[in-house]
Amino acid sequence: MMKCERCDSDTRVERYDVDGFTGYLCDECRDKWDKIQASE
Ligand SMILES: [Zn+2]
Repeated sequence: MMKCERCDSDTRVERYDVDGFTGYLCDECRDKWDKIQASE
């Protein structure tokens, strides 16, 4: 268990690595980030 770097929730996170950002995010935030990336 770690803290999500984006929403600060104390949950299971995974390393997420995209252009300009590397961090540990929860499923929900990774999903949101993917959508943000896809819309660019
Ligand atoms: Zn999160």
